[in-house]
Amino acid sequence: MEKVNIIGGGIAGLGILGAVRNRGAIIKAGALRRPSGEPLLSMEGEGLLGVSRPELLRLLDTAVHASVRRVVGRVDPLPDAGALTVGADGVNSVVRRDYWGKRSAAKPTPFLAVRGVVPGTPAPPEVGEYWGRGEIFGLAPAVGGSNWYASFRSEWGPDRVDVAEALEVSRSRYANYSPAVQNVLALAHPETSLAQRIWTTPPLATYSRGNVVLVGDAAHAMTPNLGRGACEALIDAMTLGSLLNEHPMDKALAAYNKKRVMRTQLLRLASSTMGSVALARGAQPLRDALFKQAGKRVARTRERAGTSK
Ligand SMILES: Cc1cc2nc3c(=O)[nH]c(=O)nc-3n(C[C@H](O)[C@H](O)[C@H](O)COP(=O)(O)OP(=O)(O)OC[C@H]3O[C@@H](n4cnc5c(N)ncnc54)[C@H](O)[C@@H]3O)c2cc1C
Repeated sequence: MEKVNIIGGGIAGLGILGAVRNRGAIIKAGALRRPSGEPLLSMEGEGLLGVSRPELLRLLDTAVHASVRRVVGRVDPLPDAGALTVGADGVNSVVRRDYWGKRSAAKPTPFLAVRGVVPGTPAPPEVGEYWGRGEIFGLAPAVGGSNWYASFRSEWGPDRVDVAEALEVSRSRYANYSPAVQNVLALAHPETSLAQRIWTTPPLATYSRGNVVLVGDAAHAMTPNLGRGACEALIDAMTLGSLLNEHPMDKALAAYNKKRVMRTQLLRLASSTMGSVALARGAQPLRDALFKQAGKRVARTRERAGTSK
């Protein structure tokens, strides 16, 4: 058998959607809210499926075929290239560094993300994303509790951020937010919370060089504002896997680039644009007024669709 190097742990498996659904929480409705909790724009639909990272990794792990030989450990420097090296080693990828060069190095954004899970399920009028002036707060049901996140500009990091300190700052920063937000932050505990600077990667025009290919954050680390980073990493891995099963390697890599580069680079841009709008400071009153108008239009359209049935 030819040698295939898979660097990193973010490779998707197939056939676990049912299990993920069973272990995730469906979020059917939510809203974009003012800090007070007042909805600016309500959203309803088929629902989003929220699943925690450790749970998703556990389920992906169960889908890996028993014939796969695993070697666990940090890889740096890279071993000699095998038949194919897949860089699935995240935002600070050593594969990207070695094959795409220094200019492809990830950069810290000015934003900090503080997040965690607390006991208790949020009531529907509390679910959604709260947009303030230069800061956001998100709240959604999770399995066994509520998933929350906060993001704002900060000088901390970029590498090690003290979680207890970040929670303290978040509590005072969001002290004028709705009681739902304040209750969550009062319950938040450093052991079930994370605090980190958000990093992104610069644009890449291709995700393969010779017999080396990138997937996930190694290829396109984006801000979390659209919640697409892990989803796109899974799609990359599944796309690459199927193409390699169907075509010779050079054709498979060319087709992978064609299918994945444009879409993920556009999402990378859209995500940071969304981040700039969500975390706006000076333009915040205008932004809120526009979203309020959009929210009224959406509500009228829904009403009309409801009455015409
Ligand atoms: C605050 C925040 C919120 C987010 N929210 C969402 C969301 O709601 N929805 C969503 O879809 N995405 C979200 N994301 C993005 C998501 O976390 C990433 O896009 C996703 O984890 C990328 O997966 P990956 O496998 O490419 O990289 P990673 O998850 O970073 O995995 C890389 C793996 O490679 C290993 N590794 C690294 N270097 C080496 C090495 N040299 N040798 C061996 N192993 C190595 C690491 O230990 C790790 O296991 C969020 C990100 C952040 C920061």
